[in-house]
Amino acid sequence: MEKEAQDLKKMFYDKCAEKGLKITPQRLLIFDELSKAKDHPTADAIYRRVRKSLSNISFDTVYRTLLSFTEIGIVNLVEGSGQQKRFDPNRHLHHHFRCIKCDTIYDFENDAYNDIAVPKAVQKQGVIINKRVVLEGICSKCKGK
Ligand SMILES: [Zn+2]
Ligand SMILES: [Zn+2]
Repeated sequence: MEKEAQDLKKMFYDKCAEKGLKITPQRLLIFDELSKAKDHPTADAIYRRVRKSLSNISFDTVYRTLLSFTEIGIVNLVEGSGQQKRFDPNRHLHHHFRCIKCDTIYDFENDAYNDIAVPKAVQKQGVIINKRVVLEGICSKCKGK
């Protein structure tokens, strides 16, 4: 196993132990699938992938597992409302470019965005725990169409 995958596994085991989430083969598989995903998948997409190895798993189990992963901080939910929840396994500080046509979310890193200042007005409204810049547009795959 490569180093990064090993670290990820360790983080998973540690977090589950810390938060008292029992590690089951199902949860492990769901975590593996999500970790591999680069497309900020919906619960439904993860369900379809997991079902290939665990044909009797229910959508409900997958959905509830993903939510408990977000509650204990193993994965993040992609911001936005009104759409289906999207899950993000990338735990490094990063930003999003979202295509408004195909709804693909691309990760990117940018130091200037990481250092962006929180406006005073927002500081009064609450405590900021996550700063992410979301750019929206039309991706190059869709532009040609
Ligand atoms: Zn697109
Ligand atoms: Zn992301």
